Amino acid sequence: MNKNIAANIDEIKKRIALSAARAGRDPGEIKLMAVTKTVAAGHVKEAIDAGITLFGENYVQEAKDKIATLEKNVQWHMIGHLQTNKSKYVVHLFNCVQSVDRMELAQELDKRARLAGYKIDVLIEVNVSGEQTKSGIAAPDAINLVKQFSALENISVRGLMTMPPFSDNPEDSRPYFRALKEISRQISETRIPHVMMDELSMGMTDDFEVAIEEGATIVRIGRAIFGERK
Ligand SMILES: *Cc1c(COP(=O)(O)O)cnc(C)c1O
Repeated sequence: MNKNIAANIDEIKKRIALSAARAGRDPGEIKLMAVTKTVAAGHVKEAIDAGITLFGENYVQEAKDKIATLEKNVQWHMIGHLQTNKSKYVVHLFNCVQSVDRMELAQELDKRARLAGYKIDVLIEVNVSGEQTKSGIAAPDAINLVKQFSALENISVRGLMTMPPFSDNPEDSRPYFRALKEISRQISETRIPHVMMDELSMGMTDDFEVAIEEGATIVRIGRAIFGERK
């Protein structure tokens, strides 16, 4: 994998446009997130210079170090499993937490956002496959969790996120992406106050094209931009 980050980004944007066209979608609906876990700040800066404005990090400490050295005009989303006691740092670092999967975490984020005088966006992480090792709320419980979040005034639910089981065949991810979209549709129909279902965060380096065909609005790409992780 070459280190030419700008060229990689151009290539991915072309592939996003082609997938969108195949699905009859406007490519402007799809946001490209660059996932920067283990990536040095200098390489993140190259991605910023190449026009990326949305970044994802998995670990709070790593994000803190990087965000401090980089320009402020970009958005950061937390995409990794989050311990509740890290919420107090998270509200200052991230615009959105995509990995919210339990009431205890949502309550703590709401409290920390209130104390900081912010509102923070969240996505609900859904474990569509039911794999025991995965974080995320079980699919049948997602609606009830979102209903509970509706009462929390300092978090705004914007949509759903998922990670399908690992596979080297992107087609294996399709049923999980389709299921997430269906859960999102069901939640929308329920019309829960203060809950929006505009975002579907799904698709990574190996399966983002399938995710776009199934309705992704945020694709989270690490390796195809920055190369293989060590
Ligand atoms: C690492 C990671 C990604 C990016 O994965 P790639 O295969 O490098 O594109 C996306 N989402 C989450 C939650 C991740 O942890």
